Amino acid sequence: MKFLADRMLGRLSSWLRILGYDTLSANSFDGLSNAEEDTLMLELSGSEKRALLTRDTQLHTRARQKCGIPSLLVQDGDVLRQLNQVRNHYGLVFPEEPETVRCSVCNGMLELASSEEISHSHEINKLRAKSVDIEKFVQRYARFYKCSQCSKIFWKGQHWRNMAYKTRLLSGQH
Ligand SMILES: [Zn+2]
Repeated sequence: MKFLADRMLGRLSSWLRILGYDTLSANSFDGLSNAEEDTLMLELSGSEKRALLTRDTQLHTRARQKCGIPSLLVQDGDVLRQLNQVRNHYGLVFPEEPETVRCSVCNGMLELASSEEISHSHEINKLRAKSVDIEKFVQRYARFYKCSQCSKIFWKGQHWRNMAYKTRLLSGQH
């Protein structure tokens, strides 16, 4: 299942990626008018077979009626409720312990990072500037991932754990 989400669903896109779903976001489209952006979203949904996720009633109606695209009108502003709606609508089964496979920022595939890549990364340099003991930090999280597109480094830190916990709650909540 692949998705394309509008600009109002940036956080939902990140969560879907962390859960392993290939999700494009309109936030990555630059320099388009609103009308051009809508047209591009409809084209991409069709050509790449992506389900359209939108909070825009007009775009949703246009997708369904004129283009025959499986579009979902996302009703809630809260990201957990949004995830729940997507899951129920498409009958998805979210993994209990999501494997980190996609970059939450750009949708690129993640690969394991080498110690050299970890050590030279922007993210670790930022921690170094804050006098964090990097050796301990790297030992603590053990696995670090690098995005093959934007080179951002990820690890399963507090944010990831909170997210995994909430997703588990969501899975038990029908
Ligand atoms: Zn990336």
